[in-house]
Amino acid sequence: MNPDARRQLPSVDRLLRDPGVEALFATVPRNVVVVAVREALEAARSSRAGPPEDWAAEIAERVQEHTTRSLQPVLNATGVVLHTNLGRAPLAHAAALAIQEVAEGYSSLEYDLASGARGQRADHCRTLLAELTGAEDGLAVNNAAGALVLALNSLAQGGRVIISRGELIEIGGSFRIPDIMGKSGAVLQEVGTTNRTHVIDYQNVIDGAAAILTVHRSNFEQVGFVTSPSSEELAELAHSRRLPYLHDVGSGLLLDLSPWGLSSEPRVQTAVSAGADLVMFSGDKLLGGPQAGCLVGKREVIARCRANPFARALRADRFTLAALEATLGLYHDPEVARREIPVLRMLTLDEAELDRRARALAALCPPVFLPQVIPGESAVGGGSFPGARLPTSLVALNAGPLGAEGLAVRLRLSQPPIIVRVAEGHVLLDPRTLLESDYPAIKAALQAAVEG
Ligand SMILES: *Cc1c(COP(=O)(O)O)cnc(C)c1O
Repeated sequence: MNPDARRQLPSVDRLLRDPGVEALFATVPRNVVVVAVREALEAARSSRAGPPEDWAAEIAERVQEHTTRSLQPVLNATGVVLHTNLGRAPLAHAAALAIQEVAEGYSSLEYDLASGARGQRADHCRTLLAELTGAEDGLAVNNAAGALVLALNSLAQGGRVIISRGELIEIGGSFRIPDIMGKSGAVLQEVGTTNRTHVIDYQNVIDGAAAILTVHRSNFEQVGFVTSPSSEELAELAHSRRLPYLHDVGSGLLLDLSPWGLSSEPRVQTAVSAGADLVMFSGDKLLGGPQAGCLVGKREVIARCRANPFARALRADRFTLAALEATLGLYHDPEVARREIPVLRMLTLDEAELDRRARALAALCPPVFLPQVIPGESAVGGGSFPGARLPTSLVALNAGPLGAEGLAVRLRLSQPPIIVRVAEGHVLLDPRTLLESDYPAIKAALQAAVEG
């Protein structure tokens, strides 16, 4: 911008007295407005475009940027149930309520109400975890990656841990089993091949080892010429040498979802009854609870994990424990769990209901988008049931001159943000991961997009 225009920029004080800017003080603290004014002036000074035509609008926009939270609720229209980038599992109402109840006040986090003395944080989900999985004892920590570090460090620091080459996996977000094992202080002992590992492979190196570990191949499937020993066989081998057998099952599936065509994930109870000394899983995958890492297993093994100083570094906070306890409580009745836990409810929606919901949503979409109900598939996501097919009904929108990506951006920037799928030039909305109460917001966002 030329020096003349720069000299003509208004002062901070003058902008603060602008009626449009002054009006912001009614809802926003004064210093936020001052920061926005300074930024707007700085931008005008350094931009080639020069000062904005409407200072008040420019400042209001910057104030808005400063006051919207970066972590905010969004509507998930992608049909990916456990969407890792969208917070994985939405919580059951009971779990959300439990968080709220301990959030604003004090709680019995580490307080024993019967004796009036110090209690143990680690006791909170202990009994429920054990009861529901058939294990002797349980412990909840911050997340499952942390649970694995804690287990390996507690049981195998400096020792060799035997694992199949077919299980040296990457979970995502730079979480790789070999790296985690290294950081935990355990020494990785790879056996077998990518596709085939036999009991004898483990037997050959077991002398002097510290543990045997199985990691569930959560996010991909192996088909064809593949084999691996059963958990029972590995538990028996480990126990014959008085070693612990550890099993990371990943998703924390407790219900039998095979009636809904979902049968490839190991259930926690099955892993426990196969004889594992320690079974680890996430709280916010198929369990449908808060981010957490659950450890269940033999009393003595859990005790060693609990006594490790890392347990303090990885401890769950009161919100996690409250939500996990409430979520686990719903599993006392499997039908209640399926109905009340959003992840399970979404995964078990029937096709007729999905079709009905897609039609109801399509009927609300502005006709200019030529909404159509078409068959499609949802995904479980979160590295669970990678091969599963979940038939659904999608609402396909023709975005016209906006283009599908253009419409997707507008929906993303609306309030609340709406995250959609784009395929073959269409915007696709999957009712599986939406609530019917979300539809008015979608309608409004689409209408706003039409109006520009
Ligand atoms: C997802 C997963 C983890 C990590 O769980 P987080 O709760 O995300 O830390 C670990 N192991 C397996 C097998 C998994 O599938």
